[in-house]
Amino acid sequence: MLNISNLHVSVEGKKIIRGINLNINSGEIHVVMGPNGSGKSTLSNTLAGKDKYTIESGEIVFNNSSIIEKSPEDRACEGIFLSFQYPASIAGVNNMYFLRAALNSIHKYNDKEEIDSSTFLRMIREKIEIVGLDESFIKRSVNVGFSGGEKKRNEILQMIMLDPKLAILDETDSGLDIDALKIVANGINGFMSKDKGILLITHYQRILDYLSPDYIHVLLDGEIVKSGDKDLAQELEKKGYSWIRELSTT
Ligand code: ADP
Ligand code: MG
Repeated sequence: MLNISNLHVSVEGKKIIRGINLNINSGEIHVVMGPNGSGKSTLSNTLAGKDKYTIESGEIVFNNSSIIEKSPEDRACEGIFLSFQYPASIAGVNNMYFLRAALNSIHKYNDKEEIDSSTFLRMIREKIEIVGLDESFIKRSVNVGFSGGEKKRNEILQMIMLDPKLAILDETDSGLDIDALKIVANGINGFMSKDKGILLITHYQRILDYLSPDYIHVLLDGEIVKSGDKDLAQELEKKGYSWIRELSTT
């Protein structure tokens, strides 16, 4: 579904991503780990098509066509979801209105019928329980006064409602208490199917206790220096990133 080849990205003239190759097939969960500043968010923002992230060379193919010239909106409509796409608080715009507008723009792009507000309300009521939020939540302004945990759960709710093909979750697990972590992991597991792909970016292996990732990749200074299975995450937790640094310099 996603093929990244020899990707080099710079941000404001500074080279950040230095030759990444990554293939995600349908049905696979890929985890990217790496120390602060290694380029994890740069990679996800580049995939989402945010400006400021300049592709110097390389290719990104999603569902068999190149996306590097496509706008963030078109990428979203074609099925790429990035959590934290809407981090800002938006006073006066309720969560439900916001999410329905996003869903309908995806439907419109794909020549699907728009969803009216009562149908949408029914859909969201079914899904909101999965993330452990109560109904009052959907009427509240986007992110205004949401706690950290609520924001993260809301991201998972957005993912479930928008139903993308590829979900990129950038540190959706950060700062969650253990109950919220389980809820987020449950949401991810419920979303995942043989037609979907997930790129999960995380600092810690603890969310992986609740997920079944197919591959773990370690990003260091803009390069994937090691890939492996779930055991690699545990090894990293034990030995730390300095272990990877040593490996990559020898
Ligand atoms: P990570 O998510 O792995 O912590 P980032 O991708 O956020 O790392 O950052 C990688 C490097 O790119 C850092 O040195 C950071 O300062 C730089 N960087 C990322 N985004 C920007 C930006 N918008 N403007 C300037 N520098 C940036
Ligand atoms: Mg980051």
